[in-house]
Amino acid sequence: MSPIERRGMMLILSSPSGAGKSTLTRELVQVEQGITLSISVTTRARRPSEIEGRHYRFITVEEFRAMQAHGDLLESAEVHGNFYGTPRRPVETELAMGRDVLFDLDWQGTRQIMDKMRQDVVAVFVLPPSMAELKTRLERRAEDSKETIARRLRNAREEIAQWGVYDYLIVNEDLDRASSSLKAILAAERMKRERLVGAEGFVAELLGAPGS
Ligand code: ADP
Ligand code: 5GP
Repeated sequence: MSPIERRGMMLILSSPSGAGKSTLTRELVQVEQGITLSISVTTRARRPSEIEGRHYRFITVEEFRAMQAHGDLLESAEVHGNFYGTPRRPVETELAMGRDVLFDLDWQGTRQIMDKMRQDVVAVFVLPPSMAELKTRLERRAEDSKETIARRLRNAREEIAQWGVYDYLIVNEDLDRASSSLKAILAAERMKRERLVGAEGFVAELLGAPGS
């Protein structure tokens, strides 16, 4: 354990649908300590493999509007014809405890959070190795209708066009390599001097210690 405390950060992953960000985020929270996945609310229909409260909280449009009106959402956006949002309270609680929070957001949500808390945000964009592979992955996932897949592929170009907003790019060709890259980003960002609370005190103590 480091003798220097750290402020929690917000690690955001975005990508066109099917590039692999859910796979990467879920793996990261399983193997890394001190980081929690933010569970979004959405008005889209639950996929067969999804579990309420674990992948999303599935809510109605009326419930979504009420959360927005009460200021309960840190960010929100309409993506592929459905509404998505990040509940504010759990994020604030985790950050206050010095823990990191991981997000799977589209570029609109990323921009909203960046505008509010830029210095605490690390934004990673995940690209597919090719558009053909992106299509293959969406089809292989086999959880969306043909129309939904076609819509997501059409929207992919628009999402990819936003790559310049992000701090890091990962091309998710080989999953293990992409996963290692993500862990490397997390490890390095955790050591950023600006995040280390009380570093001055630690250094002063080091220099003042006998034998220095
Ligand atoms: P997203 O969250 O970006 O929409 P998913 O994580 O659901 O994407 O991944 C889409 C599909 O592609 C899933 O079936 C997943 O298992 C698969 N996948 C993810 N990464 C890779 C990879 N590097 N190589 C092959 N298939 C992958
Ligand atoms: P999916 O329907 O495939 O789970 O997600 C569709 C898109 O919505 C993805 O680009 C995903 O990153 C984005 N998304 C998921 N949750 C949120 C959220 O809370 N806010 C925003 N802005 N986008 C989200």
